[in-house]
Amino acid sequence: MLYGVILAAGKSKRFGKNKKKQFLLINKKPIFIYSVDKFLSLKKIDKIILVIDKNDKDNKLIKKFFKDYKSYITRGKITIIIGGNERYDSVYNALTYISSSYGISNIDKILIHDSARPNVNVKDIDKLIKLLNKYKAISLGSRLKDTIKEIKSIANNIADIKNTKDRNKYTLVSTPQGFDLKTLLKSYNIFNKVKNKSRFTDDLQIVEEYSKVKSYILITNNNNLKITTQNDLNMIKYLLSN
Ligand code: C5P
Repeated sequence: MLYGVILAAGKSKRFGKNKKKQFLLINKKPIFIYSVDKFLSLKKIDKIILVIDKNDKDNKLIKKFFKDYKSYITRGKITIIIGGNERYDSVYNALTYISSSYGISNIDKILIHDSARPNVNVKDIDKLIKLLNKYKAISLGSRLKDTIKEIKSIANNIADIKNTKDRNKYTLVSTPQGFDLKTLLKSYNIFNKVKNKSRFTDDLQIVEEYSKVKSYILITNNNNLKITTQNDLNMIKYLLSN
């Protein structure tokens, strides 16, 4: 079984404007639905799990989604579950839901995707799925174009530079991130007992630290921007309209 988890339970604290970015409309379509539609277009994804915040159960857009996607929901192709306080809590809730509803087998695989990345390229997701036959932990990502500097501190938007890094030694990491399901669940079960979780910003990192499985990046050139600021939103609007 291949599961596709779409995370839409974030509170968009950094975005401001008291609006959750995943529920903003672009071309009249809520941002989270772009990812749902892309996952639906990939027939290899057996089940889609959409993770939302508990306070959004009665959200107008979610209610409309239930209505418009009813046929997928009633036959269990799409399930909506409730997330947690942090991103990793939302991922864990999805893992718990899957293991309690379907059990876990050695051949199960999972994709974890941020709904805040609606411009993800479907062909890239398809390539990632194929690579899951070879790798147990692999994410979409891209090369760095700008120069990278380590900083000592930052104040009033002025960064005090410590040194310059060799950018060829780094990659940017986006989502979806694909995993052998057992590997991800085992890693999360250890991670859950860790006290300081805030330094963990993606799921590959959890597998890197809490399993022996090596992780990989599929480098792509397609813009898979995550909406964090208003500027990102403007860019995404442009990308999704052209
Ligand atoms: O906040 P950030 O942009 O890093 O979140 C990445 C993705 O994770 C977003 O799509 C957001 O909706 C999701 N998320 C979640 N549950 C949380 C926090 C974030 O599903 N508690």
